[in-house]
Amino acid sequence: MADIIKLLPDHVANQIAAGEVVQRPASVVKELLENSIDANATLIKLIVKDGGKALIQVVDNGLGMSETDARLSFERHATSKISSAQDLFNLETKGFRGEALASIAAIAHVDMQTKTENAEIGVHLKIEGSKVKCQEVVAAPKGTSISVKNLFFNIPARRNFLKSNQVELRHITDEFHRVALVHPNIEFHFYNNGSETFNLPKANHRQRISHIFGSKMTNRLVPVSEETEVVKVTGFVCKPEFAKKSRGEQFFFANNRFIKSPYLHHAVVAAFEGLIKSDLYPGYFLYLDVDPSSIDINIHPTKTEVKFDDENTIYAILRSTIKHSLGQFNVAPVLDFEHDPNLDTPYAYKEKGAVIPKVTVDAAFNPFQEVAKSPSGKSSYQKVSSKGWENLYDGLDKNIDTDNFSSLEIESDTAVQGTIYSDSEEETQTGITFQLRRKYIVSTIKSGMLVIHQNRAHERILFEKFLGEITVKEGISQQLLFPLELSFNKQERAILKEIQESLINVGFAFESLEKETVKVTGVPLLLSESGIGTVLDRMIADYKEGFEGRSISQAELLAKGLARNLAVKSGEVLDQESQLALVNDLFGCKEPSLSPFQKMTYTTISEGDIEKKFN
Ligand code: ADP
Ligand code: MG
Repeated sequence: MADIIKLLPDHVANQIAAGEVVQRPASVVKELLENSIDANATLIKLIVKDGGKALIQVVDNGLGMSETDARLSFERHATSKISSAQDLFNLETKGFRGEALASIAAIAHVDMQTKTENAEIGVHLKIEGSKVKCQEVVAAPKGTSISVKNLFFNIPARRNFLKSNQVELRHITDEFHRVALVHPNIEFHFYNNGSETFNLPKANHRQRISHIFGSKMTNRLVPVSEETEVVKVTGFVCKPEFAKKSRGEQFFFANNRFIKSPYLHHAVVAAFEGLIKSDLYPGYFLYLDVDPSSIDINIHPTKTEVKFDDENTIYAILRSTIKHSLGQFNVAPVLDFEHDPNLDTPYAYKEKGAVIPKVTVDAAFNPFQEVAKSPSGKSSYQKVSSKGWENLYDGLDKNIDTDNFSSLEIESDTAVQGTIYSDSEEETQTGITFQLRRKYIVSTIKSGMLVIHQNRAHERILFEKFLGEITVKEGISQQLLFPLELSFNKQERAILKEIQESLINVGFAFESLEKETVKVTGVPLLLSESGIGTVLDRMIADYKEGFEGRSISQAELLAKGLARNLAVKSGEVLDQESQLALVNDLFGCKEPSLSPFQKMTYTTISEGDIEKKFN
């Protein structure tokens, strides 16, 4: 048989490699920014058009390149940063694989101008799909400017795979934040579609965080600082009262690279234990410095996971250091009742084995015992229900046809009711319901018994209500007597603007979204004033995440988010009236049997089922 193995031509190999390095415009931004930093730039400009699909340009005042280097920089495995495998273990630079520029040039139109300090004149290079189209001399300042146009022009499948400009811009902004947060000594400017979105002067870490996330941050940060043999930890955590319902400002950097580490995230959360509710996320900006040889970053270029040699020790140090900071700055109770002396001596960790976690069991716990009533006697839902619940239904169709769900028709056997519930006339007219374990609403139906999951049922009701309002624009707004001022950072405001119309349709009203402080002047009827910030935070986070993976309409996403945030929860007490309204409204829904998150909302137990039990 003839030989069949061929070497792939360079441009094909480059295209394949490009697929690994460049997944979306944000990957290009990351690589170019990192190259500028490696070139010792003190000023970096990032210019983006149409979510990076039309243009990504990075201009720096760094070292620049000679004519030969400029040409070589686009070759695969061309790097000035390592010369032997040993160098890999002592990396001080961001790049080292010599792949980025070659990959980018394989799948885009690249234009580079560069000049070194000592050169009289600069070089201008144009490369399209790995082919050099033009090389000439140019008058240029010291430094490098690289512009990348028409990303994936020669791989239509990849280009089509890109998300909307807004989503791509968000990824770019995330990448920009990550780089800017570790290099406060570098001045950054970020222009999007011609307007300057970030102007970050040279600053210290704390200032840089505020410049990016808004001046509200300044007073929220608690410094963290610890130096041990294994790791040096610096940075900030946000005070517990500013913990958010959604993931937002959580940043780990290891040796000045952004990393993701669910394990270390857990260490931070553990330090906040008892200070924030378990469904809240603490904010943090933590910079870890470790011996470069004790960390494995020689992995996939786009990955942010790293491997520390001594991960358990770092976990313990991180947790104790943050606990200490929170205590020292008087944000944690001074007396720590769960004080664990082990955590005070992080230096000794190397010799320690794992501690077996203690599990405490409440022997007296009886799952069938009624939960004690809250002191106020009223749940948060009831507060809403006393005003909002009935009002809510004012705006809705009254003529819901109960015959649509005839098989589930609510039993109105007055004889039975009369004996059990004799105190209310209304109940005897409509049906009987009661709440089981503050979680289910039980009602009788002709064929037996109906058990409704209160939270999921209400989610379904609200989902259909909001979906209707968003599309028909009929949401009832409750004007706030005193507008509520909430601060949102740029990215959050951009999302708010995107979903503004839908939010207005369901009853929100805003004054200008241009400034950091957004005035909320009206909210949907059901929403309590104290919940506004949380709901908006959650909506923004849901929206940000929701659009990434699935193809789902904005209206549906928002309706789901609002429904999830505003629905009565398990554990909330519902009065008789609300229970009945819930039952009726659920079966007035188009799709009563499933929550908007595809969970069962109710089940029935037939008379036959009950009879069987007595056999
Ligand atoms: P790596 O960064 O892994 O070395 P790249 O493909 O990103 O690989 O860059 C290749 C080389 O081009 C770098 O090693 C560097 O010498 C040079 N280079 C790239 N960008 C710049 C820049 N902005 N300023 C100066 N030199 C640069
Ligand atoms: Mg590089």
